[in-house]
Amino acid sequence: MDSILLLAHTEPDGTLAKPALESLTAALALGGQVTVGLAGSVVQPAADQIAGCGAVRFLAVAGEAFAQPRYATDAAAAEALCRASDAALVIAAGTSRWARALPGVAFRLNGRIDTHATGLAVQNNAPAVTRWFYRQRMEAVLTRAQRPWMVLVDPGGWTAWSGASGTAAVELVEAPEAATRTSFTGIRAPKTDEQTIRPDAKLLFVAGAGWTKKQADGASHGAEAEALILGFLGKSQASLGGSKSLVEQSGEGEAVLRFMTHLNQVGQTGSTPRHPKGLSTCCHGEEPHVVGWRFVNQRRAINLDPNCGWARGKADVVYVADAFEVMRHLNRLLG
Ligand SMILES: Cc1cc2nc3c(=O)[nH]c(=O)nc-3n(C[C@H](O)[C@H](O)[C@H](O)COP(=O)(O)OP(=O)(O)OC[C@H]3O[C@@H](n4cnc5c(N)ncnc54)[C@H](O)[C@@H]3O)c2cc1C
Repeated sequence: MDSILLLAHTEPDGTLAKPALESLTAALALGGQVTVGLAGSVVQPAADQIAGCGAVRFLAVAGEAFAQPRYATDAAAAEALCRASDAALVIAAGTSRWARALPGVAFRLNGRIDTHATGLAVQNNAPAVTRWFYRQRMEAVLTRAQRPWMVLVDPGGWTAWSGASGTAAVELVEAPEAATRTSFTGIRAPKTDEQTIRPDAKLLFVAGAGWTKKQADGASHGAEAEALILGFLGKSQASLGGSKSLVEQSGEGEAVLRFMTHLNQVGQTGSTPRHPKGLSTCCHGEEPHVVGWRFVNQRRAINLDPNCGWARGKADVVYVADAFEVMRHLNRLLG
């Protein structure tokens, strides 16, 4: 089996975050000799955190410049670590930092890179990488002769490594001087309670266009729909998905469901999220939508129409009911 370099950038406190620990699990499972390569302002806490992982060496590029998520310095650090380890296979978490920097590093090293790996295995004593293509419709297993071969593993696909900590002997590596015109000033993101896409949530809650349609009383109830959905998301911390019809309506600036964007769209031309459970509401369950549910293990739907798509074998349980009523009751139960 090839020698392996596990690349990881440290967090501001010098430790490793979950995606890095997951990529460590992925690297160790291959059974080759693993060298750990760390980059960051402080690296010793990270090396100590995984001291018991069985790595043969701990290499690090350390310094204030490497704290910043910036292409030039991240690429310089990764290149130096790859050259120092001389590993044939380089594994790193598919974080935004590595996804940005490592393709350039692969080019500098005359290597190759593959991204979004969801599985790693050994075939004929060489690594084989599994990834999906064409919006997760086709799964492929790739092997390559070219080395170094860099592989970015998708977060969430492996269990985070959680072995013994200790004191690791870190060998510092000099990275070449990199031109640094860019400085990182901070992350601007919505508050977590405004963030409706939560990949780690146990439940995917999908809202369909029915929420904005005229109801039994002949009127539509957009404001109540918004309050019911946001109330449920706040209490359950579910992730929010939407049907194409609904997200397009919001895109047109309609007053209803203002928190719904194209990023929420699930389906053939949307996303294919992975959650243990899914609850579809006011959504018809047409095939182009339901294909986005292929990784949702348990599916339930609430629809007024007993003949909706979900009822035709696409859901495990269909509640033929008014979603307004059900969600009102559910929110009351959740307090
Ligand atoms: C090439 C192509 C790609 C596509 N890609 C996607 C995609 O990626 N994702 C996607 O979602 N769609 C996609 N579509 C569109 C898809 O075919 C459907 O048109 C869309 O999913 C319908 O959205 P909907 O079910 O929310 O709306 P509708 O079809 O309007 O259904 C609304 C449902 O709400 C129910 N309802 C209304 N009021 C209530 C109530 N009070 N309680 C309970 N139920 C209620 C109704 O019974 C109805 O079933 C694609 C289509 C094409 C042609």
